Amino acid sequence: MAFSKHVSRRQFLSTAVSSTAGGILARPALSFAPGRHLGSAGLFDIGAAGSKLAWQDQGVINTANSPYAKLHSIPVRAVTIDEGFWSKRRKTNLERSIPTMREELEEHGRMDNFRRLVGKSSEPQKGPYFSDSDIYKWTDAVGWALQSDALPALRRTTDSMIREVVAVQEPSGYLNTYYQNDRVSLRMSQHDQEVGHEMYCLGHMLQGAIAYYRGTGDSTLMDAGARMVDNFVIPNYGPGPNQKPIISGHPEIEMALIELYRTTGKRQYVDLAGYILHGDDRWTIEPERIVYMFCGIPFTSRTKLEGHAVRAMYACCGATDYFLETGDQAYWKTLNTLWEDLTRRQMYVTGGVGARAQWEAFGAAYELPNQQAYVESCAAIGNMMWNWRMLAASGEAKFADVLERALYNGINSGMSLDGTTYCYRNPLAFDPAAFDGFRGSPNIRNPWYDVTCCPPNIERTFASLPGYFYSTSKDGLYVHLYDNSTLDWHLEDGTGIKVQQTTNYPWQGAVQLTLTPAQPTEFTFHVRVPGWATNATVAVNGKSESGVKAGEYLALHRHWKPGDRVTLSLPMETVSVAANPRVSEDRGKIAVRRGPVIYCMEELDQEHGVALADVAVPIGPRTGKEFQSDFKADLLDGIVILRHRGSAYEVSSASEALYAPVNPAPRKTRSVDLTFIPYYVWANRQPSAMQVWVPYVTT
Ligand SMILES: [Zn+2]
Repeated sequence: MAFSKHVSRRQFLSTAVSSTAGGILARPALSFAPGRHLGSAGLFDIGAAGSKLAWQDQGVINTANSPYAKLHSIPVRAVTIDEGFWSKRRKTNLERSIPTMREELEEHGRMDNFRRLVGKSSEPQKGPYFSDSDIYKWTDAVGWALQSDALPALRRTTDSMIREVVAVQEPSGYLNTYYQNDRVSLRMSQHDQEVGHEMYCLGHMLQGAIAYYRGTGDSTLMDAGARMVDNFVIPNYGPGPNQKPIISGHPEIEMALIELYRTTGKRQYVDLAGYILHGDDRWTIEPERIVYMFCGIPFTSRTKLEGHAVRAMYACCGATDYFLETGDQAYWKTLNTLWEDLTRRQMYVTGGVGARAQWEAFGAAYELPNQQAYVESCAAIGNMMWNWRMLAASGEAKFADVLERALYNGINSGMSLDGTTYCYRNPLAFDPAAFDGFRGSPNIRNPWYDVTCCPPNIERTFASLPGYFYSTSKDGLYVHLYDNSTLDWHLEDGTGIKVQQTTNYPWQGAVQLTLTPAQPTEFTFHVRVPGWATNATVAVNGKSESGVKAGEYLALHRHWKPGDRVTLSLPMETVSVAANPRVSEDRGKIAVRRGPVIYCMEELDQEHGVALADVAVPIGPRTGKEFQSDFKADLLDGIVILRHRGSAYEVSSASEALYAPVNPAPRKTRSVDLTFIPYYVWANRQPSAMQVWVPYVTT
C-alpha cells in the first residue's frame, strides 16, 4: 500500500484494517509463489518474484528481486579482497576483533542471560535491556565472515551459541531475555516499546540470523526470528482492532523485516514494516519522543534529520528498503529531502553524523562542533548502510561518494589497528587534558562498553565489505570501491564474469581492472569516478575514454573480451577543504583530504614543543601542491603521511592576557614542519592532542 502524506494515520488504519487478512495488510495485486521450507536444511529459496536465489548468492541486502532497485547486490563471497588496504583490517577483524569480542560478550554475561532462563546459569541478568542485540550483531559479523571463509571452529562456536539462544524461545514465539521471567508484565507496553528496544532486538536478531543463513545455509536462528514475527508480533500487534500499536522506539526492525521478506518471500513483512514506518496514532507519543526516536509519525512527513542519530539513520535505511520494494514515491521524495539535509547541513567531513552528546543526537543545521562532536561509530555505519540502499535505488554515484567517505574515515576510525579497542565517539578534535573520559573509562578507545553497540557493528561492516564492491544491473556491472581484489560472479544474463583489480588505492590513484567474461559479451561496465577525483582519466585497453566526470559512473558499453583492461587514473592530490562559513567552529580553518582519506594532526608527530593549539597552515594559490606525501610502511600499519611547512604562534600562556586590543602587526610566529596522518589511525599510540580542522593564514 502506497501511503501518501495526505492520508492521515486514522484513514490509513481504517483502509489497512479493511484490507487485512488475518490482521496483516494483504496485497492482492501482487501475489508471490509461497516460500518453500526444506525441512532441517531450512532452505527458503523462493525469491520475491518467484525466481530462485540460493542462500549463498544473496548479498548484504538481497535486492535481486526488488522491483525498484536499479542495482542488485552481489554476495560477499563473490569478491576476494587480496593483499592491500582492506585486507589488513579484515584479517585483524577475523583474527582479533571477532574472537576477542566473543570473550567480552561471555565475560559480561551476554550469553549467561540466555543460559539463566533454561537453568544453565545462576548469574543474574546482566547489561542493559538491549543486551541480546550484542549477541545478534556479533552473529551478523560471523555470518558474513563465513561467506568469505569456511572457518569451522568459529562455525561450531556460533552454532552452539545459536542453539543456546533459540532454546529460550517461548511457545508464543517471544524471545528477549530481558523481558522473560520477572519482567513479562512490562513486555511491549507503550513505555517499553518507546525505551525498551524489544523490536530493536528482534530486528538485530533477524539481521544476524539472515547474515548467518547467507553465510552457512543454516536457518535455525532465522526460523526462530520468523516465529517471533509470525506467532507473537503479527497476531497481537499492528493496525487491526484487536491488535495493539507498535512503536519503533529504536528503528531497526523496519529494514530487518524487509530483509526477512527478501529471504522468505512472505510479503506480510513488507506490509508490517510499512505500518511501523507510518506510525500508529492510537497511542499518544510526546512530541520530543517523536523527534528523538525518529518514529511515531509518518516517515513521509519528515523534512529534516533530527533526534538520535543512529535511530534516524536506521529509520532511513528501513524507509529506503520499503521504497525498493514498493516504489512509493512519497518515500523517495522524503528520503532525498533528508539526504540533502544530511549532506548540506549535518554531516561531518569524515562521514560521521550526530553532533550532540546530549541524546546522541543531530544538532541544528551547521552545528558541527569538533571536540564536542559525538559522532557515534554506529551512526557513521548507519550512514553507509543508508547510502548503500540509496545507491541501489538510483545508481547515482553521489551516494557511493558518501558511503566511501564514511567507510574510510568515520567508520574506519572506530576500530583500533590491533582490532581490540573501539571508539564509541569519533570526535574531530581531542585534547587529553580536557577529556574527562567516556562512560567511566579514561580512554577514548576501549575494548568494551556496557552499551556495546559499536564494536560488533564495525565488525559486521568489515566482514561484509566485499559485498559493497560491485553491483549488477540489467545492463551490466557497476564497480563502486577500489582495492586489490577479485570478483568472480556472473552478469544478470548468467554470463560468468571475473574482474581483477590491481591498485595501491587509496595511497595511489592508479587502478587497473582486468575483465574476463566467460565468453565475449556485450554489456555496460559502469566505472565509478569518485566525486573528489577531478581530472581523472579512464582508458580501455590503453585508449582514453571521453566523458569522464568526477562524481559519476562512466558507462563503458562495448563487446567485452577476456583480458580487456580498464585503467583509471585518479589524481591523489592533497586538497585543503573549507567548510561552509555557517559552520562556526570551522571558520578560518581547513581540513586536509587526499583522495578519499581525511587527515588529522596528532601532537606527538609534531616538532618538539609544538602545541596543536598554536599552529596554523599558510595557504595560497599553490595550496595542496605544497603538501609533501610520503608512504611510511612501518608507521601505523603503513600510511601515507603529509607534511606542510606551517607556523606556530609564540604564545606564553603563563603571562599572556586572555584578551587584548587587536594589534594590526602580525603576531610573532616561528616556522615549523607540520605532519598530518590519516584520521582513521588517530589514538593508536599514547594519548595526544588531535585536530582535523587546522587554522590557516593566507599568504
Ligand atoms: Zn554504537
